Amino acid sequence: SDHNLDYPATPNEVGWESHYPEDSPLADGKKPEFADVGCGFGGLLITLAPLFPSTLMLGMEIRVQVSQYVEDRIQALRVKHADKTNPATLPGGYKNVSVVRANAMKFLPNFFSKHQLSKLFFLFPDPHFKARKHKQRIISPTLLAEYAYVLRPGGIVYTITDVKDLHEWMVKHFMEFPLFEPVDEETLIQEGHRNIIQAVRTSTEEGKKVERNKGDKYLACFRRIEDLPWP
Ligand code: SAM
Repeated sequence: SDHNLDYPATPNEVGWESHYPEDSPLADGKKPEFADVGCGFGGLLITLAPLFPSTLMLGMEIRVQVSQYVEDRIQALRVKHADKTNPATLPGGYKNVSVVRANAMKFLPNFFSKHQLSKLFFLFPDPHFKARKHKQRIISPTLLAEYAYVLRPGGIVYTITDVKDLHEWMVKHFMEFPLFEPVDEETLIQEGHRNIIQAVRTSTEEGKKVERNKGDKYLACFRRIEDLPWP
């Protein structure tokens, strides 16, 4: 249950200053543009942070110990990469990345305003195998409406899983939803997103586990299309 969690009533009340230091892209008036839903131990965010030093990123994770771990991990990296004169310091110094403990299925629009995001990640989400548990899946028609709301037209959703049934479920729901269209890997690579796809496949803890077990990885990406005109 969520009664012991504090949620911002609206995105204006999030208080991003507590997440990103003063000398982060926040200073340029930016808001988080990448969201990693169910970020787990944070592997994707940590990989992407230095690749996009002027983009703010946020992980959302429901398990308190796990989100705390990610927070500590980011803090340690910020300390380690604080010295700009050190050639080993990576761009952005991890000031552009943060995490919240949150139930993304309930509170995504409390954090992000309309069209705020350019990328949304669902990497190895919990499969909830049993049919009666499917309503707990992170992809559903109701939730897709929220994802379409927070994503800007042209924005990309990345999904990956090792569970074929879940992959097919996610593809089916995105295809049925009028505000998303599938975009294949080749197109994304041509558009310059090769490093993101690479990170989606290999940077997370779950992705690494699947690799060790020689499991399959099913990638599916979707583009948020323009809002449909009123009739
Ligand atoms: N994306 C990470 C990776 O690839 O390593 C973690 C994958 S793990 C299988 C799924 C994660 O989603 C877990 O850490 C879980 O706690 C989190 N999660 C599940 N439901 C969630 C929700 N409603 N809101 C936020 N996080 C959630």
